[in-house]
Amino acid sequence: MAFRGVDYLLIDSQFSEQELMVRNTARRFVDERAIPLMRDCYRDGRFPRELIPEIAEMGFLGANLHGYNCAGMSNVEYGLVMQEIERADSGLRSFVSVQGALVMYPIHAYGSEEQKSHWLPRLQSGQAIGSFGLTEPGFGSNPAGMLTRAVRDGSGWVLNGEKTWITNGSVADVAIVWARAEDGIRGFLVERGTPGFTTSDIHGKLSMRASVTSSLALSDCRLPDSAMLPGAKGLKGPLGCLSQARFGIGWGVLGAAMDCYETARAYTTLRRQFDGKPLAIHQLVQEKLAVMITEITKAQLLALHCGRLKDMGKLDPAHISMLKRNNVAIALDCARASRDLLGANGITDEYPIMRHLSNLETVKTYEGTDHIHALVIGERVTGIAAYK
Ligand SMILES: Cc1cc2nc3c(=O)[nH]c(=O)nc-3n(C[C@H](O)[C@H](O)[C@H](O)COP(=O)(O)OP(=O)(O)OC[C@H]3O[C@@H](n4cnc5c(N)ncnc54)[C@H](O)[C@@H]3O)c2cc1C
Repeated sequence: MAFRGVDYLLIDSQFSEQELMVRNTARRFVDERAIPLMRDCYRDGRFPRELIPEIAEMGFLGANLHGYNCAGMSNVEYGLVMQEIERADSGLRSFVSVQGALVMYPIHAYGSEEQKSHWLPRLQSGQAIGSFGLTEPGFGSNPAGMLTRAVRDGSGWVLNGEKTWITNGSVADVAIVWARAEDGIRGFLVERGTPGFTTSDIHGKLSMRASVTSSLALSDCRLPDSAMLPGAKGLKGPLGCLSQARFGIGWGVLGAAMDCYETARAYTTLRRQFDGKPLAIHQLVQEKLAVMITEITKAQLLALHCGRLKDMGKLDPAHISMLKRNNVAIALDCARASRDLLGANGITDEYPIMRHLSNLETVKTYEGTDHIHALVIGERVTGIAAYK
């Protein structure tokens, strides 16, 4: 069934025709092609790889990048695409985020001309898949402590270390691996099949089941100098990529929240209890729907304002922390309230709510946890860093 949208405050009037056209293209694709697959993919723990060519064809991979066959969308258009894709599933949106914000963006921003012209058209068209290796078994929230080392060897490099919780890890043709070199943290393009580079999947996930998550091992992995991203030195390299991805998440989770809200709204108007009356007749039920639509509306305005600031070049990482932290939190609250309103039916995968709820637990943790973003905001307003 076609999604009619969630727009309590006439926010659609703030979008241009072009923005609405991009959103509607993404919306149609999600309704017709993605949603029909997601329940079974989630059950089977399978990433719907067959959707990649269509996603690429619509320009959604690296959508807000310019040149090298990228669509050159505005950041608001890109955000609306993320919103629609996450309405299908956070795992599908994770694929698009990693490919665009964490793989294509660093190559675009920090890569050599040779790296850009080789990889960007392939990644944009979905011919190649990428992954982003920052997290290590002992270093998640604090990537500055990473143990993976890159040591100079003649004209090239030797990498040793381990990365874990890496989205797309085992299906990627190229991994952006962040490692500590003598002059600071550096990013490397490690191609699948490079001797000394292996991947293994993480099993037993009860969240993000339609997304591939892997560990990467680097054991005396030799790379030519041309594999290093010349424009990234220090932690600001990977953090710059994370800002791009977190912006997309701030929009994406709106899609999951809207799907939960709309499912609960429709269900409570149909489901009858006590004298054959619909659940929605009860004040306690209406209060839950009122809170949800209010929070979604505030989150939509936050996302739109951040998108406009980003298009003006004025959005900074502390702004993005507020967007990511708030919108993930309200999406989780909406998923929990919706699950409750569906009663027992809410726990089945006949409805999308429990899947969104489980996925959103990951989204709360990755790309900077809720706590870490609170500390970024805290540092902005007090001038005091409280991470340690
Ligand atoms: C499905 C999935 C996909 C992922 N994909 C990727 C990927 O593609 N690439 C990648 O590099 N990583 C990826 N990650 C890893 C993710 O970014 C990390 O899990 C995240 O950064 C948190 O690190 P951690 O799990 O080690 O938790 P920890 O850092 O151990 O944190 C655990 C808890 O302690 C809290 N905490 C930690 N430090 C502080 C502090 N100073 N103050 C207050 N509280 C604190 C945290 O907020 C959290 O609640 C993925 C994770 C998942 C689950």
